[in-house]
Amino acid sequence: MKIAVVGAGLMGRLIALSLARQGYQVCLYDKDNKQAKQSAAYAAGGLLTPLGESMSCEPNIVEMGFTSLKMWPELLATLDENVYFQKQGAIMVSHEQDKGDYQRFVQHIERNYGQCTVNALNRQQLNELEPELTPQFNQGLFLPDEGQIDNRKLLTALQKQLELEQVNWFTEAEVSQLKNQASHCQLTVYGQVQTFDLVIDCRGVGARKSYGEKQQTSSLHDLRAVRGELFHLFAPEVHLSRPIRLMHPRYQLYIAPKPNHLYLVGATEIESDDLSPMTVRSALELLSAAYSVNAGFAEANIRQHISQLRPAFSDNQPKLLVNQRLIQVNGLYRHGFLIAPVMLKKVTLAVSQLDQKVVTGTSI
Ligand SMILES: Cc1cc2nc3c(=O)[nH]c(=O)nc-3n(C[C@H](O)[C@H](O)[C@H](O)COP(=O)(O)OP(=O)(O)OC[C@H]3O[C@@H](n4cnc5c(N)ncnc54)[C@H](O)[C@@H]3O)c2cc1C
Repeated sequence: MKIAVVGAGLMGRLIALSLARQGYQVCLYDKDNKQAKQSAAYAAGGLLTPLGESMSCEPNIVEMGFTSLKMWPELLATLDENVYFQKQGAIMVSHEQDKGDYQRFVQHIERNYGQCTVNALNRQQLNELEPELTPQFNQGLFLPDEGQIDNRKLLTALQKQLELEQVNWFTEAEVSQLKNQASHCQLTVYGQVQTFDLVIDCRGVGARKSYGEKQQTSSLHDLRAVRGELFHLFAPEVHLSRPIRLMHPRYQLYIAPKPNHLYLVGATEIESDDLSPMTVRSALELLSAAYSVNAGFAEANIRQHISQLRPAFSDNQPKLLVNQRLIQVNGLYRHGFLIAPVMLKKVTLAVSQLDQKVVTGTSI
């Protein structure tokens, strides 16, 4: 089968590589260059924290997150380049004014995820685990099975691998139209129509436009953008070894340590498709949160401030839609990295089912 993967962000790269390895003839298209700076994947924090997310997502996401956490090491082992992946747990803390939210979180975990390992920590235990947390925190929750991944390193490692394995990758190739039919799917790129046995649409928020026929837009009619902002801070004076999640009335705030003294502080969550630079309000909230966790952040350098859009459906659930010769993978929202290996497995299964039907000549 000749397959086009449209969108070379997180899912597009994973899918293109996996299908090429299975022997399919794959063409990968993206409107951007290979750095993918326009993707949500480039902007992300790379947190793999199913329990940390659990209060604001459905249990199936938590389950997919735990399964994916087990699958990531195996997937990363197939790449030539090393990708920073850590599973040393995460810590949940709160300031006095947000204690109510913290208690609600503790009760939610006890009630719904009692089978998971979670350790309540007093001040001394917190200090043993993360000695540089501000002494204002006198309790916390240790979630030992949570992890994180270096999202940008993953994108470059996948890029190198796709090049090494000679996958056809068309950059600055904006796909302006997709036309799905019973026997094939056509896409318009560089002003020309190309025909494939199967097209896999992984354009994230970019998929909100450009379907040829009205009825085909219906499956994505409620795809929306959720703005997120985060900082990259260079803080050699701060030594935190795992993600710290801080209760906050409006966002799920985190401070995630990355290699080379880099810390990601994010991420806001705003119902908007505004891609303009970070607002002063968000900057104040994120930086005060970082400073309140460790005063050493006062001397940090701001390396980057980022604003980007997450693709989400109205129920915040990821979707894998199979329709004739078109597969749409979208709505990964704030959980793309958390659930990517499970989503990849679902996609490759759908492709092989379609392929079998093509080979045996059954109508789909
Ligand atoms: C600030 C922020 C923080 C986040 N933090 C986390 C986190 O900690 N953990 C986590 O699991 N997830 C996180 N996410 C979510 C995660 O990044 C997304 O769920 C994930 O990237 C979605 O993957 P995707 O492949 O569907 O889309 P994307 O990664 O956005 O890729 C879509 C690609 O399609 C291309 N494209 C778009 N339109 C076209 C077109 N017409 N033609 C050709 N190409 C096109 C784009 O250029 C892009 O490369 C975060 C997101 C944001 C914005």
